[in-house]
Amino acid sequence: NKQIVLKDYVKGLIKESDLILKTSEIKRDIPNGAFLVKNLYLSCDPYMRSRMVKMECSYIDSFTPGEVIEGYGVAKVVDSSNQKFKKGDLICGMTGWEEYSIIKSTETIFKIPSMDVPLSYYTGILGLAGLTAYVGFYEICSPKKGEIVFISAASGAVGQLVGQFAKLFGCYVVGSAGSQHKVDFLKNKLGFDDAFNYKEESDQNEAIKRYFPEGIDIYIENVGGKMLDAVIPNMRPSGRITACEMISQYDVEETDATHNLMSAIIKKIRMQGFVVFDYFNLYPNYLEMVLPLIKQGKLAYVEDIVEGLEAAPAALVGLFSGRNVGKQVVLVARD
Ligand code: NDP
Repeated sequence: NKQIVLKDYVKGLIKESDLILKTSEIKRDIPNGAFLVKNLYLSCDPYMRSRMVKMECSYIDSFTPGEVIEGYGVAKVVDSSNQKFKKGDLICGMTGWEEYSIIKSTETIFKIPSMDVPLSYYTGILGLAGLTAYVGFYEICSPKKGEIVFISAASGAVGQLVGQFAKLFGCYVVGSAGSQHKVDFLKNKLGFDDAFNYKEESDQNEAIKRYFPEGIDIYIENVGGKMLDAVIPNMRPSGRITACEMISQYDVEETDATHNLMSAIIKKIRMQGFVVFDYFNLYPNYLEMVLPLIKQGKLAYVEDIVEGLEAAPAALVGLFSGRNVGKQVVLVARD
């Protein structure tokens, strides 16, 4: 059983060497109520970095050094002592970064209902990223037609989806991303109204003013730091910010303070953070909305798939330098 193990708690920039490939025996003793799965696809998610430090209080436990890390994935049940999950069933949910895992807790586990979309979609558009985009835009931001929406890390898993949901809803949508290739992808493939490369802007505030002369109604916050600082004074009155995450802040010793919060008071801006794991009850509603859009070809969805568990550490680390274009997935086994 090939496995990806956390070497030690991570300080500063995450490196491939923080994760070790190890081989061990497949455990065949399945406790009552548990089941053994063969992992097929693993999702690379930025929040996994936050589990690589020792946290006193968080919505999710830290990983343990020396043990297999876990993440969201798609897997096939190969042996079971759970009535609800039978041999041959396909599931998505939290699993180990290894070839075979024993699943004991079924809280996050869903049986995959249909096979007429690619299985890998359940790591992204039909997994955490999709639900995050849905909750972040519709639930948290209560959008109105015609509103002006800004999305950072827009070409990634969450960004590409939330941008298209906003376009389909009738908003004006601009995204920021870290290369010209990604900017072209946002404008030409995903139908964003505009996009810019934040790495080429010496002053994010100037960039925001240029792309949003009338201000921003909704900001989908994925990066934090200087971008959030630039956005707040450029929000329109009663604007909403959904704080998905702040990927720019994982590796810094001291997180950036936002200097512009005074204008949030004057403009009555609402900023709300959320954790997608609290919204699994909305997953059926989300599927009801998104499956027809996929089947009717109304959503573009781009995945960046690497093959083999050996490639998983580099794929995960690549999220923090923007190596991925679209949803980063690891193909562990085809079936
Ligand atoms: P992405 O596919 O967007 O990958 C991460 C991207 O972030 C990279 O491709 C890179 O793109 C950008 N990035 C990396 N480092 C920086 C930096 N220092 N400054 C600015 N941009 C950076 O990831 P996801 O779509 O999976 O996740 C997007 C965000 O949503 C993440 O912050 C994630 O943690 C969050 N999230 C939150 C959830 C929740 O429950 N609240 C659930 C799921 C995701 P570029 O080339 O453009 O720089």
